[in-house]
Amino acid sequence: MTKRVAVIGAGPSGLAQLRAFQSASEKGEAIPEVVCFEKQSNWGGLWNYTWRTGVDENGEPVHCSMYRYLWTNGPKEGLEFADYSFEEHFGKQIASYPPRAVMFDYIEGRVLKAGVRDWIRFSTVVRWVDFDEATGLFTITLHDMEADRVYKEQFDHVICASGHFSSPNVPEYPGFEEFNGRIVHAHDFRDAREFSGKDVLVLGASYSAEDIGSQCWKYGAKSVTTAYRSAPMGFNWPDNWEEKPALQKVEGMTAHFADGSTKDVDAIILCTGYRHYFPFLPDDLRLKTANRLATADLWKGVVYVHNPKMFYLGMQDQWFTFNMFDAQAWYVRDIILGKIEVPADKQALMADVAEREAREEASDDVKYAIKYQGAYVKELIAETDYPSFDVDGACEAFFEWKAHKAENIMGFRDNCYKSVITGTMAPVHHTPWKDALDDSMEVYLQN
Ligand code: FAD
Ligand code: NAP
Ligand code: MG
Repeated sequence: MTKRVAVIGAGPSGLAQLRAFQSASEKGEAIPEVVCFEKQSNWGGLWNYTWRTGVDENGEPVHCSMYRYLWTNGPKEGLEFADYSFEEHFGKQIASYPPRAVMFDYIEGRVLKAGVRDWIRFSTVVRWVDFDEATGLFTITLHDMEADRVYKEQFDHVICASGHFSSPNVPEYPGFEEFNGRIVHAHDFRDAREFSGKDVLVLGASYSAEDIGSQCWKYGAKSVTTAYRSAPMGFNWPDNWEEKPALQKVEGMTAHFADGSTKDVDAIILCTGYRHYFPFLPDDLRLKTANRLATADLWKGVVYVHNPKMFYLGMQDQWFTFNMFDAQAWYVRDIILGKIEVPADKQALMADVAEREAREEASDDVKYAIKYQGAYVKELIAETDYPSFDVDGACEAFFEWKAHKAENIMGFRDNCYKSVITGTMAPVHHTPWKDALDDSMEVYLQN
């Protein structure tokens, strides 16, 4: 009997898995039946933008954490698909930091070409997954939202690609209950224009804090104050942007910081990160990990050590994204096709995880971390037919990106980099990022 494989989620990771199987099939190999379950009505994962916050049209938690006017925060040259270049998709080379709509179009282009849309059951929520030791099969409980029907199906393998930047980590500080302005987590932030003319406090010191603060600045906030818990971001911020040490409490509209200073603010945006959250998985299948490069309990970063028939994609913290998800998806495909063997000994699986953790912890240096994840991508693609590409070149693009941010945090997106897939240099975008208020695909792609 043909094996059945379930993929949970049709974001970039789940779609990579579909493309991986389809590419083997295209080469004449026999592949299992692959069924992908996606709770949203369209594919793209986080890149499938919605204005909605809270619950979606079905009463399910909204997955999207992206916002209007979001542009990629790293160069596209670091994430380009090795089997589907930007030039192939757009018919020309494009600038290096595309807005969300352009990225969505690119993500969709590859899977439209592959013809895998009918492998996906949309508006279908995975409610629960069970594994039966006796039969060696998984039973998945599904909720078809359109038919409003709950049903079960059995599978030989489950690949969880449900993402980990959707369930917000929401801390509370003294005075939040009495604050007379808006308090919102990054997950629910949608449109920076809401904060124009306002004094905004942003909590956190990572990518969301930097980018949501920058959005607010670009679209006319009166001032931006960011408060860090561990270390400041330390960029050369514009004049109306100040970095403060940790928030202590809020009194009325006044925020108090660890250095004794205060600031009156109209709104507080919590850029305090996300949690790996899998409400559809029982204890024996559920990944419990911090947001790090060496995830807990995943052999080669993808095989769940406590049940090697279960796989996870994209659960790492991410320098590399799309091409890393591809590397993982091709690798998982080849395990399922029997081309790559997973050690039977659980100790061997755990030892691999421990080695990855120790190697990650060996240095705090950013370049080290980028190279570490680059080495991981190389390690996986060496064992499959995913087209090899210049991973070191992609790392170089990331190093340049870091330097460009240090030089000019509001101008780094005006730089361009060389594609490691086609070798072409990206053109300079027609409008500096800070002046490009209309970020529609039509406007972005103009020469
Ligand atoms: P997601 O994109 O999260 O997709 C997971 C999918 O699983 C979703 O479609 C969801 O609906 C579905 N799903 C979840 N639970 C269920 C369920 N129970 N049943 C059925 N379906 C389910 N990366 C970059 O490379 N460049 C960027 O510029 C960039 N910007 C980002 C900006 C923000 C604000 C955030 C939060 C992330 C950003 N990322 C960026 C990183 C992002 O994680 C990846 O680009 C990518 O979206 C991850 O793909 P994924 O498929 O693993 O997860
Ligand atoms: P993150 O990288 O996990 O950072 C979380 C931040 O929250 C850290 O600075 C952390 O501080 C802080 N924090 C956590 N709990 C806190 C608390 N109780 N009080 C104060 N601070 C607290 O999460 P993220 O910044 O949301 O980024 C998530 C992903 O989204 C990344 O992959 C990023 O690249 C992506 N992203 C992309 C874009 C874009 O492309 N335009 C925009 C935004 C985000 P400590 O360091 O002290 O723990
Ligand atoms: Mg290869």
